[in-house]
Amino acid sequence: MPKQNFIGGKWLDAKSGATDKVVNPATGEVLDEVASSDAADVVDAVDAAKGAFAEWSATTPRQRAEALLKIADAVEKDLDNIQNLEIDNVGKPVSIIEFEMDLTVDNWRFFAGAARCLDAAAAGEYMEDHTSFLRRDPLGVVASIAPWNYPLNMATWKVGPALAAGNTVVLKPSELTPLSALRLAEITADILPPGVLNVVTGQGETAGNALVTHPEVAMVSLTGDVATGKVIAKAAADSLKRVHLELGGKAPVIVFDDADVEAVVASLAEGAYYNSGQDCTAPCRVLAGPKVHDAFVNGITDAVRDIKTGDPHDPDVAMGPVVSEDQLARVTGMVDRAREGGAEVTIGGAARGGAGFFYEPSVVVGPTQDAEIVQREVFGPVITVQRFADDDEALAWANGVDYGLASSVWTKDVGRAMKMAARLQFGTVWINDHIPIVSELPHGGFKQSGYGKDMSIYAIEHYTELKHVMVKW
Ligand code: NAD
Repeated sequence: MPKQNFIGGKWLDAKSGATDKVVNPATGEVLDEVASSDAADVVDAVDAAKGAFAEWSATTPRQRAEALLKIADAVEKDLDNIQNLEIDNVGKPVSIIEFEMDLTVDNWRFFAGAARCLDAAAAGEYMEDHTSFLRRDPLGVVASIAPWNYPLNMATWKVGPALAAGNTVVLKPSELTPLSALRLAEITADILPPGVLNVVTGQGETAGNALVTHPEVAMVSLTGDVATGKVIAKAAADSLKRVHLELGGKAPVIVFDDADVEAVVASLAEGAYYNSGQDCTAPCRVLAGPKVHDAFVNGITDAVRDIKTGDPHDPDVAMGPVVSEDQLARVTGMVDRAREGGAEVTIGGAARGGAGFFYEPSVVVGPTQDAEIVQREVFGPVITVQRFADDDEALAWANGVDYGLASSVWTKDVGRAMKMAARLQFGTVWINDHIPIVSELPHGGFKQSGYGKDMSIYAIEHYTELKHVMVKW
């Protein structure tokens, strides 16, 4: 697989000749080197995307759907290869990767179908002697900027709807995990016309910033950190680009006294540590009722003791490393500060030591609502547990963070579940579950978790502009 940029159907080194090292987080060793692009490369990629727009935007929905279905088939055929890239580059255990790969293929198939189903208000005579109808036009060149936690899956959430709607794309994967995006470019090279999908690798501050500030980019779609979202929204404001932001999360898990505690423990022992907790919807912030708090803490502590960590290629391993040395330092610092602030660490609470960036799966009990570990995203294998006194306090604490991506409520009382679902300020509320997602339904944030939705027909709408055509008889 080439390690260059994919621009206008050609593989090209960064013009400066610079490269970035790609590291295997399970060993700390360098895995590969890819182009470290700057504005000069981005200009070429945007030119290529702009050049391809007239032809791609004029394709019929059926033609675009057929191309996306071919991409789904090509990704599916290449899954062994792609999943090995993700295992080595992100440290994902082979035991958990199937779900993510299956979702990725299904996402492509969903977007293919959705390309043919865009809708809007019916054409009609809304004014006497005039017929009005609506068009959904593509925007032009879309910059898709992806994170490292689910590299190909997040890229699919950005690129799939953009292409389905008739836009052309420049994809910039995370500098930490660029390999699967390059493989996507390679396997779609025979499916999409040159310039329709371009992949430029490089750092956020150089390649990413050049995309966000390029005058010919019509829309920037980012999945990433809240701080990055703010930088991008400010930079994009200069040219009033459309901005679509899927940012961080700090998902509350509200466990009421009537909840099935064993079910919560089973769900969190898997979901909270899945992908080493590097998931924007991870059930990381447990709020437990006074009667179930201790049972939950004991249950989750025991369950976490059984999580096997280690070599991601070992089929018995459930949790691998975190993605980088910086991420390991971030997780370590946050748990250390929580402990110093008076919270109790009932299990874990330290880096594993040795090669690779491993942090023990951890449970932190009793931080205060204003503690850093409650208010800020850890993005590691760590949950906090707080004991609430009543429903009002549970709701106030759940909503009492800047984030608003995902949440869950555990109770047998349907009325209480409905009331919480109405009052929680999060893009997803699960009842008696946490984490499942499907292509048909939207994923996205309230508050500082961003705006715009991924997946679902609503995602595709973001990548179009409504145009009113009014005809006088
Ligand atoms: P990040 O913000 O550091 O990087 C994301 C992407 O933005 C990378 O490609 C990076 O190079 C680029 N970037 C960074 N600075 C930039 C700049 N100034 N201009 C343009 N591009 C820039 O995020 P990350 O560390 O890769 O990913 C983890 C974050 O992503 C977490 O906060 C997580 O919650 C969030 N996330 C959110 C969702 C969601 O759907 N809401 C999904 C996955 C991850």
